[in-house]
Amino acid sequence: MVKKVWIYDNESPKSQETSRRLRKKLLASGTLRTEAHEASPGLIQTQLVQDGHFEFDEISPEIVISIGGDGTMLSAFHKYEEQADNIRFVGVHTGHLGFYTDFLANQLDELIEALRTENSKNAVRYPLLKVEVKFDDGNEKSYYALNESTVRRGDETLVAEVDISEFIFEKFRGDGLVVSTPTGSTAYNKSIGGAVMHPQVEAMQMAEIASINNRVFRTLGSPMIVAKKDTIRIRPEIGTKLWFTIDQKEYKLANLKEVIYSLDGRTISFANCAHTPFWSRVRNSFIGTD
Ligand code: NAD
Repeated sequence: MVKKVWIYDNESPKSQETSRRLRKKLLASGTLRTEAHEASPGLIQTQLVQDGHFEFDEISPEIVISIGGDGTMLSAFHKYEEQADNIRFVGVHTGHLGFYTDFLANQLDELIEALRTENSKNAVRYPLLKVEVKFDDGNEKSYYALNESTVRRGDETLVAEVDISEFIFEKFRGDGLVVSTPTGSTAYNKSIGGAVMHPQVEAMQMAEIASINNRVFRTLGSPMIVAKKDTIRIRPEIGTKLWFTIDQKEYKLANLKEVIYSLDGRTISFANCAHTPFWSRVRNSFIGTD
């Protein structure tokens, strides 16, 4: 069966060059077979025909190959967010750190071989974070994050009520809050002291950015891992000007009433080509090899 693929790259010269090479290799990949036909009565001619394994389809690809770093994979996901249920992603690494990338630029033949044999049944699925935003004027929007979503303030202190499911948990004061997916746990979450989670754990994590804790103001003061059955609701004080982010997208808002985070079962699928176990990737990225 011919697989519909699309290459999503970034603007770096290395990604562009890798993208060109991969495109050529994908087009050239196929099985050669001999086809016989009757050229004229009694004269059978044979010719070599190539059955391609891949075709390019930007509109409805089954597989999206991101070429770059983690940021490129985040952009690829958001470009195809609406169709993500029908897409398997795979990453080729030309950037600095590669949590979403399984292949190096010199492993394109291995990638093509792996793509030939993978299928939707053996794809690897990781939870996405559902983010529902309610505004003061009654408007609502919803998003999905692959890494995390943040509610932040830089110039002044963010004051916000935090509810877990239906009960008031704490009144937060500080720079901000980060709610991340398991795959996002190694990103911003980790920088602010959050725990690294295996990407198949079905939970979300909330971590604080510079909370104020003294005799007057008190928050939990440590990251918390919240089960799939619960929601996290953040309600900033009315009229707060703040930064709200979904992965690398940033919005400056003054009319945000509340943000509700949950896991609704939606996942991102990665083509089952991974050859680096998660904990080995964590070790290689953050501790280094001996
Ligand atoms: P960027 O260019 O600022 O890069 C951020 C770094 O985070 C890159 O090294 C990238 O490889 C790494 N990264 C991204 N996702 C990762 C993951 N799941 N696990 C481990 N590392 C990961 O921005 P970008 O490349 O567009 O990525 C956006 C992401 O940057 C955001 O989703 C957020 O997680 C992260 N970020 C981190 C901090 C921080 O650590 N202080 C601050 C802002 C944003």
